[in-house]
Amino acid sequence: MSAYSRVLLKLSGETFADESASISPTIVGDLADQLVEVSEMGVQIGVVVGGGNILRGASMSATGMDRSSADHMGMLATVINALALQDACEKRGTPTRVQSAVAMQELAEPYIRRRAIRHLEKGRIVIFGAGLGAPYFSTDTAAAQRALEIGAEAIFKGTKVDGVYDADPALNPDAKRYERLDYITVLQDGLKVMDATAISLCMDNGLPIVVFDMLTKGNIRRAVSGEPIGTIVS
Ligand code: UDP
Repeated sequence: MSAYSRVLLKLSGETFADESASISPTIVGDLADQLVEVSEMGVQIGVVVGGGNILRGASMSATGMDRSSADHMGMLATVINALALQDACEKRGTPTRVQSAVAMQELAEPYIRRRAIRHLEKGRIVIFGAGLGAPYFSTDTAAAQRALEIGAEAIFKGTKVDGVYDADPALNPDAKRYERLDYITVLQDGLKVMDATAISLCMDNGLPIVVFDMLTKGNIRRAVSGEPIGTIVS
């Protein structure tokens, strides 16, 4: 049984990578296995993919490049990840659609809210590429915005750690994991959940964020089933 009927999953680009490749076929395959499992439970899934495994606009602009141009490159990076995830899901027999916020009709549908919802209702996984299509934004903010537009009940923020800690658990063995947090604490304490624009948007609209480790197999299912495996920001 799932606790949610429609969710928006945010996958950072870094979760696609391993030591040897920026897009690891094994990791993308494992992610697709998890998505297919949840889709087969009848949960409607939208996915916003990041691009940080390939390129981030802020890092490129720090080398002297115009920020808007660098962000356009970053958005294209997210579409590369979206296509990789689409392929892996469809290899497993689950229909998907990639919708891009930047027009590129040869390889993705344009983002059309009503059409995205229709795909979800038909059991297709909808993968949103190119963020919001606007520079100076992140895919975290795109995830919050798309989640609100499609009426998702929560954002599931998949990371490589099992929630939000009061210190870096890799450096501090006494670091404590929060089970619940409120938005203001996340903003005031600068906790690494999502960027401030994304958190504010969630806070203003009462959209919960579930932060969890999604590299452990079955965790996306556990999270959407409501098992307390990470941190809930609400
Ligand atoms: N980006 C953007 N507008 C958006 C979403 C993303 O300009 O609405 C660009 C930005 O340069 C960003 C890059 O795309 O650095 C990749 O996205 P992000 O850094 O959010 O990816 P993640 O950290 O989740 O892998």
